[in-house]
Amino acid sequence: MATETDPVHVLFFPLMAQGHILPTIDMSKLFAQRGVKTTITTTPLNAPLFTKTIEKSHNSNLQISLKVIEFPAKEAGLPEGVENLDLVTNMESTWKFFNAISLLQHTLDHLLQELRPQGLVADMFFPWATDIASKYGIPRIVFHGTSFFSMCATDSLVRHQPHKNVSSETDPFVLPGLPDRIELVKTQIPDNARGGSEDDNFKKLLQSAKEAEKRSFGILVNSFYELEPAYADHYRNVPGKKAWHIGPVSLCNKNVEDKAQRGKTSSIDEHTCLKWLNSKKPKSVAYVCFGTMSNFSASQLHEIAMGLEASGQEFIWVVKKQKGDEDEKETWVPEGFEKRIGNKGLIIRGWAPQVLILDHEAVGGFVTHCGWNSALEGISAGLPMVTWPIFADQFNNEKLITDVFRIGVGVGARKWIRLVGDFVKREQIEKAVKEIMVGKRAEEMRSRANKLGEMARKAVEEGGSSYSDMGNFIEELKGSQMRKQD
Ligand code: UDP
Repeated sequence: MATETDPVHVLFFPLMAQGHILPTIDMSKLFAQRGVKTTITTTPLNAPLFTKTIEKSHNSNLQISLKVIEFPAKEAGLPEGVENLDLVTNMESTWKFFNAISLLQHTLDHLLQELRPQGLVADMFFPWATDIASKYGIPRIVFHGTSFFSMCATDSLVRHQPHKNVSSETDPFVLPGLPDRIELVKTQIPDNARGGSEDDNFKKLLQSAKEAEKRSFGILVNSFYELEPAYADHYRNVPGKKAWHIGPVSLCNKNVEDKAQRGKTSSIDEHTCLKWLNSKKPKSVAYVCFGTMSNFSASQLHEIAMGLEASGQEFIWVVKKQKGDEDEKETWVPEGFEKRIGNKGLIIRGWAPQVLILDHEAVGGFVTHCGWNSALEGISAGLPMVTWPIFADQFNNEKLITDVFRIGVGVGARKWIRLVGDFVKREQIEKAVKEIMVGKRAEEMRSRANKLGEMARKAVEEGGSSYSDMGNFIEELKGSQMRKQD
């Protein structure tokens, strides 16, 4: 039986996607630094993402361990080895991936029986985790990985269905009941909310995620109170959920090594990357990256290249390896592009050490798809952003960046389309990049972003709002354990 002096043991079960795994690694470090024993569970091909952190934790006496479980790719009709959403190339495989996940229920059951943690932080995409945990009297905590704002916006959309009152796809509607006036058009909301053609099982999954959340212990949010106070309050009052803000969790990566080794192995050696950045003037480089799941066509990549060149700005551009190897010949590279660009631009093909780059003083702006991790990393680095949402929660996060924080310029992407998004022309890219890099407006946005970055760092320091709320969470978890034993 656990006693008051035993460390609390929390099991983390993240969705197999970089945008969920990376903040989980950061969270587990932060919790371990507060004396919590943490175990992360993942599948064999995702396990190497954790190795460095676990090795280091042992050297610094932090209790972080890994529990590897098999991923039922084959059973769900996926090719063997597809264990991460960043390997999924199309819609059909996306649904198969989520079917594979639903086959993990027994595995979780066995794991909880074996480990008996005092808390289970399971991804929102595992709604069944709540009931399995409750069988063993274990509180289940939900991790969405998005902003308070986005959760409030989605709640307003689902609750009030304002998009049903407009006659055309391009008529704006307001999200009712939010602290700010937030307008969207129908093409910017998720396919399932529009009544689109997405898989029925996926719609059911989202519905049961919502229901499971109501019965859960609460949610952990990778955000900080000072960033979005009105939405942090709104979320706790209107949908009425228990939530603890503990971010930005990526700020736990303090030195070059931690930043460079976050996530997959970088396609560029960190010294080469830093050398390139060190040769540039402060705030002169635009960093361009669209996260881990987007899958742009060769013609979209071509357009980005032309837009970046026309902007005249120096840049680092991360081009993910084309999924499905359809473009091995890199037909997207404009004739003579790399020669013309020379040392003015650095293209990283594959994985970039994003946090290391964003935190470098040479970087002056961020062209982002508005995945919440990237958005928060950009905010923490005090950068103005070009917002280019593609799907998921990204259109909500765009509104937060451009309309609420006023630290971003929209590139003009208006269509929520899973994996690919809207087609954006070179002129739009050129204009938006210039707007965040040079001129008075860029300076104003940068100064606002800088203030948010300072607040972010304070929030995670001892005594800061996120530091304190993490403490509150740990105490509540301990309290629930003690009550159980009474
Ligand atoms: N990331 C990185 N290098 C890359 C691409 C992405 O380090 O080349 C990291 C990025 O810092 C962020 C995460 O991967 O922490 C992506 O999460 P996000 O929520 O921004 O987007 P998603 O990939 O989930 O759409």
